[in-house]
Formats: sequence, structure tokens, C-alpha cells
Amino acid sequence: MWLTMVTPLFNAIWVLQAMEPSKTNRKKVEVIWKTTFKRFLMISMRTPSTLVHQMIGRNQEEIVTSTNDTTTIKWMKRKNYEEFTYPLIKVDLLELHEKETKKPLLGVSNAFCKLLKTQFRYCPKCKGKKITNPWHMKYFHNMEIKHFMKIWNEDIKPIVNSGKDRKKLLKQTHEICIEHLGKYNKFISII
Ligand SMILES: [Zn+2]
Repeated sequence: MWLTMVTPLFNAIWVLQAMEPSKTNRKKVEVIWKTTFKRFLMISMRTPSTLVHQMIGRNQEEIVTSTNDTTTIKWMKRKNYEEFTYPLIKVDLLELHEKETKKPLLGVSNAFCKLLKTQFRYCPKCKGKKITNPWHMKYFHNMEIKHFMKIWNEDIKPIVNSGKDRKKLLKQTHEICIEHLGKYNKFISII
């Protein structure tokens, strides 16, 4: 939903970004862009940028470059009233197409967002602002849970990158996340 509803709203900004010399301004847009993603998926604001970029499938620089290239090509086509046929641009278009179709988020279950939230949640047992991350669970409660980055890299990413049909990907990633969630909920209920 975020990909279809929110990302197009940024297209005009990405084109301007290509011309923007100020690093601070570029950074501001990146922060807003990532914040919309986290809010939309209702995940913690402390979710690391590396994971956000991987979930989206591209980083800001890639999006700025590809949006700018696409827009340039479109304007050249309009201006010349003809199809754009330079070999170099054709190659770029193919690359763009490949990048556009690489959207890991489409194959990731909502359960992954739920799972992600658990590792930023306050511990119901301990006083003070202790978070139920793997470190806290291990050293305060002697319980092993897998870090969300490890789950993403070892369990989710290989499935999403397998290129299977979206429904199959969602089913498989959902099952994995539900298993981790079940383990976490069981631990929380007995601490
Ligand atoms: Zn605790």
C-alpha cells in the first residue's frame, strides 16, 4: 500500500533532489520519506535505515537517479515527438525496469512488521525502559530470540529473492514470522 499510495507523492521531489546541492536538504527529504514508511507500516521509528532501504528495495540515491532518468527520457520524447532510440538510454531503461520490479516489500508478510515491533517494545516484567530485544531477553531472562536483522537476512531475504510468485512468497514469509512471533509471545507470557 505504501508503494502505491505514498511513493508517487515523492516523485516531483526526487526530480528536484537531483539538482539540490545542499546535503542538509537532501537529508531532510530522506528523513520524511523514511518516516512515512515507518508510520504507514506502524513499525518503530528506531527501525534502522539499512533495514528500511532493504525492505523498500532501493536507497534514496538510486530512486533520485532512476526518477530523474525516467523524467528526462519522457521529456526528450515529448520534445522530439518521436520514440527515443539511443542505445545507451535503452540500456538504462532496461536497468530501470529491473530496479522497478525489485520490490522486496511485495513479498514480505505483515507479520514481519508485527515481529519487528516486538523487539522495540518495553519489557512487561522489568521496571524502567528495558526493551524486549534479544540482548535483554538473553541477559535478563535467559531466553534466546533471534535479532530482527538476522531474521531478515537469513530467513526472509533468501525467500524474497528467490523470484517466486508473490502469493507463495507471502505465505512462506508469513509462516516464518508467525513462528518467531509465537516463540516471543510464549517467552513474554512466562517471564
Ligand atoms: Zn525484562
